[in-house]
Amino acid sequence: MAKSISCKDAGSDCGWSATADTEDALMDITIEHVKEHHKDLEVGPELKANIKSLMKDA
Ligand SMILES: [Zn+2]
Repeated sequence: MAKSISCKDAGSDCGWSATADTEDALMDITIEHVKEHHKDLEVGPELKANIKSLMKDA
């Protein structure tokens, strides 16, 4: 099932959102975005768990 995520759901002012066919693919896309646009966030297990919890069925 496709999954989607948006930065707004994480409480960010960022208008970015993405959809992918799998959780893993969406995780990769989201981490790339975080590295580019949210450099203050530390990419680690906590962030990944948070990303996962914010994913919705698309
Ligand atoms: Zn963002």
